[in-house]
Amino acid sequence: MPLPLGHTAIGLATLEVSDSHAAGWRRFKTLAFVTVFSNLPDIDVLFGLMLTGNGDTFHRGPTHSLVFAALAALLASGASKLWSHIPRISFVSAFSIVFSHVVADFLFTAAPVSFLWPLETHWSNGVVGWSDVISSVIFQGFQDAGLVAVCAAFILLLRLVRARMAGIGEHP
Ligand SMILES: [Zn+2]
Repeated sequence: MPLPLGHTAIGLATLEVSDSHAAGWRRFKTLAFVTVFSNLPDIDVLFGLMLTGNGDTFHRGPTHSLVFAALAALLASGASKLWSHIPRISFVSAFSIVFSHVVADFLFTAAPVSFLWPLETHWSNGVVGWSDVISSVIFQGFQDAGLVAVCAAFILLLRLVRARMAGIGEHP
């Protein structure tokens, strides 16, 4: 199951595809932005923990949908135009990063997501407390090592191909 580390790696790979100029951002800002937005759908775990003490109460519902990804992307791209401290990002790139989370959950876990919310809504049926969430984020991150390696290899390969294509373009 992708944890924050895995979702961030997938988000970085997604950004590499959707916006090849993203490398021009200051690296820390890029990493911070992708970390927040590639994990944003799991904010439902925090809501569940704070309101009911169970992180699964609202998990995999509205925040794991196309509508949520579109709203979050509108917010991110709008904020990036208004506030110079946020890296400039297009709606498409922001949407891709948030939605990469939903797709990864769908592909790599057995529990369903709510792609078409409000037309369909699925909830996680488990019971997870603060200690479960904290320990899985801190101690199970290594489970995402394979995912991180694949994403890193993908980004490197894409950069190599782009550099090669640019080289060919310069010397016809
Ligand atoms: Zn999720």
